[in-house]
Amino acid sequence: MDEGKMKRQMIRVTAILVACGVLLCAIVFGIMQYVLRTAHEADHEQMQLEVQEYKSRILKQMDKNLQILTTLAEAYKVSEITQTEEKLEESIIETNKANPFISLAFFWPDGHGILNALGEDTLHAMSLDACDENAAQAVRQALQGEVAVSRMFRGSIYDESQFLYVVPVYQNDEVVGALSAGDTLEVFEDIVNGNAVLGGEGYLHLLGSDGAFLVRSERTLIKDEMQTIFDGAYLSEETKQAARTALAQQQSMFGDFTYQGESCHFYMEPLGLNGWYLFCANRLWGSSMSYGRILVIVAAAFLFLLLMMLALMAAAYYKFRKNTAMLLQLAYFDPVTGAKNTARFDSECIELQKKEPAYSIAVLDVHNFKWVNDLFGPTGGDNLLRYLALQIGKMLHGDEIFCRDAADQFYLWLHETDMGKIRERLGKLIDSVREVTSRATYSYEITLYAGVAVQGDRDKALVALQSIRNKQYQSIAFYDAELHKALRERNQIESSMQSALQNREFRLFLQSKHDLRNDRLAGAEALVRWYRPDGSCCYPNVFIPLFEENGFCVKLDLYMVERVCEQLRAWIDAGIEPIPISVNQSKLLFADRNYPTNLEQIVDRYQVPRELITLEILEGVAMEDFGLLEEQIEALHARGFRVSMDDFGTGYSSLTMLSRLRVDEVKLDRGFLHSAPGEEEARRQIILEQVVSAAHRLKIAVVAEGIETEQDRDTVAALGCELGQGYFYDRPISAENFTACHMQNKTKEEKEE
Ligand code: C2E
Ligand code: MG
Ligand code: MG
Repeated sequence: MDEGKMKRQMIRVTAILVACGVLLCAIVFGIMQYVLRTAHEADHEQMQLEVQEYKSRILKQMDKNLQILTTLAEAYKVSEITQTEEKLEESIIETNKANPFISLAFFWPDGHGILNALGEDTLHAMSLDACDENAAQAVRQALQGEVAVSRMFRGSIYDESQFLYVVPVYQNDEVVGALSAGDTLEVFEDIVNGNAVLGGEGYLHLLGSDGAFLVRSERTLIKDEMQTIFDGAYLSEETKQAARTALAQQQSMFGDFTYQGESCHFYMEPLGLNGWYLFCANRLWGSSMSYGRILVIVAAAFLFLLLMMLALMAAAYYKFRKNTAMLLQLAYFDPVTGAKNTARFDSECIELQKKEPAYSIAVLDVHNFKWVNDLFGPTGGDNLLRYLALQIGKMLHGDEIFCRDAADQFYLWLHETDMGKIRERLGKLIDSVREVTSRATYSYEITLYAGVAVQGDRDKALVALQSIRNKQYQSIAFYDAELHKALRERNQIESSMQSALQNREFRLFLQSKHDLRNDRLAGAEALVRWYRPDGSCCYPNVFIPLFEENGFCVKLDLYMVERVCEQLRAWIDAGIEPIPISVNQSKLLFADRNYPTNLEQIVDRYQVPRELITLEILEGVAMEDFGLLEEQIEALHARGFRVSMDDFGTGYSSLTMLSRLRVDEVKLDRGFLHSAPGEEEARRQIILEQVVSAAHRLKIAVVAEGIETEQDRDTVAALGCELGQGYFYDRPISAENFTACHMQNKTKEEKEE
């Protein structure tokens, strides 16, 4: 997974968590709203119920008082009322003493009357015209035969806000008077002041039809002095309007208001009497305090849990981010140099290439990094890698990037396709690293080499790099298709060489060597041919250099020695006189001290005379370790083998070599014969003459290679070469063909002789 993907996932997870949180909040909010509304409604219901209860109690009380009055009215003897006023007066005084009214009065239909105030023994003469209008109106109603309750008025005798119950008094179904009883609102106060309203949380008042407080409970919610519910600014204009309408229409009503920052609500219920109302108010959470508390607790608990959850989420998110960052670091960065790794590099390259199609990928490698590790230890190696990462980072321009792959390889994405400029930039880096390391801490020259694929990929850059892996003289190579083909072939060869050896795909070919004096067959050179299972033939110049590189030559050369011995044995067994055969031997063999012994064992296994085997070594081999080579030649001689120096004259110190190495034969490189004629040719001719004569004096046989024409043959014969080899005589042919072509004749020749 790449970093972008991880980040996207992180954002997705966060978004889901936040969405869950918001959803949860919304759900809880919804539930709370629902519970609150339900509680509110329950509160209203409760309030309405209790107010109605009070209403009925108040009405009952009034009813009771009215009944008392009605019973009193019934009790008066009509005769007493009409016949003797005195008796009536007495009766009223007496009756009033035994009843709860503040006054008791009797009015005759003509409007005059008598009144006894509570606690007095006297009567007051009354006239309806002189009475308070509210009182007079109720009396008149009673004189009309109705039971009435007056509106509030202030009495002249009993100076207190009061009202009257008035009942008609009948005689023979005719109203002969009205009996009235005065009562103050204290009657209700006991009821209205009851603390039991809404569990003690409610405040109940009695209102007049205009909203004025008739009885204002001592326990008030609003402490200010108020005459009507419209005083002050507690109710909103809207609510006030609604209340006025309700009062006018004698309807019940719920309303809300705010007092001292607290939400409150009220309920008005008409008493159905004189336009009076019961008005109940309490705090919103007054009566349903328990609900409120529970809700508050639930909300607080939820908030706490939510906060905890958020804290946990934040902690988890932080940890997740930290781990992700660590994982990303591990997944995308090299722990040694801190540079990007290839995974990161590749994904960034894709993005870069989308924006900028003109680019190149280069790979840098350190020659013999293994030695650096061996010489300076792993820490020294790491330090070098860090230094290289720093230098590479410095040479990059703009959005160019680099990464470190395994061991000592660095890949670069360069915003450049001009091969000259790339060569210049990489060359500068390689030179500066070489220079700094040769004089700084390492005092060991670090040489880098680079493979570049212009608009290619890492694999192609690597192909280019591999093409110069062993070429110390070349430090930068560019990828091309040919290179790739060669590498593919090389890989194919390397992957199949072992099985090819086991399957005997390497076949022995022989090329004849002739005596230049009479052209007679004097020997042969063994040359390998690789016959692939598909029937194709592969020549040694294709695979021998590669086997030299990978060391497989050691195995192949000894295998060829064995095939040569096998052939010699076959000739001997067939009664054919064997001829000496030269076998090409890789320089790698000479590095092994056991080589002469190993060789001896092979040859002896076939019981072949050792002097029939000539070992051809390349002149170039001799230049590497002279001392060891001398010893090996000595050891080979001691075992009876002959040694020949192949491609003689191609090296720079051929004569020195001739003087020191005790070889039995030198093979002049065919370049001597086939170089262009001219002044250089004449000079070479002189040298050649000297070399041949020097060799002869040292008792070293001289073989000329590459004789293609009769003239070639004559030239080398004139020089004094003993033996000749080349297409003029024969091409390399299979051992079977060679036996058929050359060896049968030889037997015959010998027989003739
Ligand atoms: P070399 O040992 O110098 O072998 C002579 C090469 O010259 C052979 O090429 C041969 O075919 C070629 N040649 C012979 N006469 C003429 C001629 O008149 N004109 C021309 N143009 N070429 C001629 P080949 O067989 O392809 O071998 C090439 C090289 O491969 C050999 O050079 C030798 O160094 C190496 N080689 C061949 N077989 C083996 C082997 O078994 N082991 C090792 N280590 N190297 C081998
Ligand atoms: Mg040879
Ligand atoms: Mg040769």
